[in-house]
Amino acid sequence: MTAKIIDGNALSAEVRGQLAERAAALKTKGIIPCLAAILVGEDPASAVYVRNKVAACEKAGMRSIKDVYAADIDPAVVFARIAELNADPSVHGILVQLPLPKHFDSEAVLESVSPEKDVDGFHAENVGALMQGNPRFIPCTPYGVMKMLESAHVPLKGAEVVIVGRSNIVGKPMAMLLLAKSCTVTICHSQSKDLAFHTRRADILVAAVGRARMITGDMIKPGATVIDVGINRTPEGKLCGDVDFESAKEVAGVITPVPGGVGPMTITMLLANTLEAAERCAT
Ligand code: NDP
Repeated sequence: MTAKIIDGNALSAEVRGQLAERAAALKTKGIIPCLAAILVGEDPASAVYVRNKVAACEKAGMRSIKDVYAADIDPAVVFARIAELNADPSVHGILVQLPLPKHFDSEAVLESVSPEKDVDGFHAENVGALMQGNPRFIPCTPYGVMKMLESAHVPLKGAEVVIVGRSNIVGKPMAMLLLAKSCTVTICHSQSKDLAFHTRRADILVAAVGRARMITGDMIKPGATVIDVGINRTPEGKLCGDVDFESAKEVAGVITPVPGGVGPMTITMLLANTLEAAERCAT
């Protein structure tokens, strides 16, 4: 059996088309959704992410602002800029690309973004709202995964879900969203004993670790849905996920590829959150 593949590029194109229509509708009310992105330092991966986010905004008929600062910038300058963007009514979403240089207090920076413009959903107020089942902004990667599960008609109610990874940006919010859909959720991490014991029980397995191809076909329940969030580089410089796609696709029922899976959906849901923020301003 070969698994059905959820094509993140195709789903993204479909969702972005819908977002562009909504952005065009807002434009008739004189509102152009605007995302401000802040990048500190020269990390090449971060620079690519920000460039892609900004380009995706423009393509969807939204506006973007990109502020790039040298790695040794005084954090006070960045805080001042965030305060300015918070106060600017023409800006609807603000994102600070992580990781920040070591001399920054990342948590304080994220907390300085207005919760109403926190389109990444990282502000404590928004994390709390998500925990309470009443999210204002859903963090983009888990939001994209939920869209993918929905598009593939994966049954959620009562499903055994195993998430590998407990980060604030992927693992934990993913768990909250699936719990809200009445899944039974297990979160594994680097100290979990016998990872394969857990993963083999999963109807839905989400890998968000950052270790190339660590989930192999023998760790997957036949017919399971496998969502690969990981982005890693092979020694040859190729992109690959946390799942060994070749062996996993022979066992899984549904699977996401890397590249072309969760990655494009993450950017799409950032656009969705920015648009939602702008729509809230219009009402
Ligand atoms: P973090 O490094 O913040 O978290 C990794 C998690 O994996 C931690 O909880 C860690 O456990 C756990 N872990 C590490 N080693 C093992 C192991 N051997 N067994 C089980 N669990 C382990 O990463 P992120 O959540 O930020 O990202 C995860 C991956 O997803 C990365 O590859 C990242 O590039 C990718 N990513 C992709 C996105 C996309 O759009 N597709 C968006 C965001 C991230 P512990 O807590 O104990 O340390």
